[in-house]
Amino acid sequence: MTQQNEMEIIFDSQSVNEGFARLTVAAFVAQLNPTLDEIEDIRTAVSEAVTNAIIHGYEKEPGKVQVSCRLEENRVHIRVEDHGQGIADVEQAKQPFYTTRPELERSGMGFAFMEAFMDEVEVESALEKGTCVTMHKQIGQAVGSVQS
Ligand code: ATP
Ligand code: MG
Repeated sequence: MTQQNEMEIIFDSQSVNEGFARLTVAAFVAQLNPTLDEIEDIRTAVSEAVTNAIIHGYEKEPGKVQVSCRLEENRVHIRVEDHGQGIADVEQAKQPFYTTRPELERSGMGFAFMEAFMDEVEVESALEKGTCVTMHKQIGQAVGSVQS
């Protein structure tokens, strides 16, 4: 049987909670003995997805952000979900340098970073319903990583 372990957190859409989510996922993933680079990639990807949920998803009114993380053998699956305003055109939103909030000095690189640091990123979104970002990464690909 495939070895699995899963966790889920739900928190308010406040920027102060971004670090909490990033650290919690990193701590949970630590049991797979990732390299420092792998853990840093995951922290960055989670940070970008959670920040998006807080800043864009709940731009108009606050709500809850849900982050779940499933470990399956040496694979990590992370889901970041909000029930905020949603994205009108996901393909456009994923383009590097595309941002709807230039006034906040956003650079439009969040999705590009998630795609660069994770093996696979899927975005599902519906206007007025919310957004779900699912990211996958295999741990232990790097040369010299420690496997238990
Ligand atoms: P950066 O991440 O570089 O600070 P950004 O957040 O604008 O800038 P991306 O993270 O690539 O860039 O997101 C691109 C655009 O997609 C955002 O400007 C926003 O319009 C939309 N978007 C992303 N995530 C969400 C979300 N959870 N809910 C609603 N809109 C979103
Ligand atoms: Mg962003």
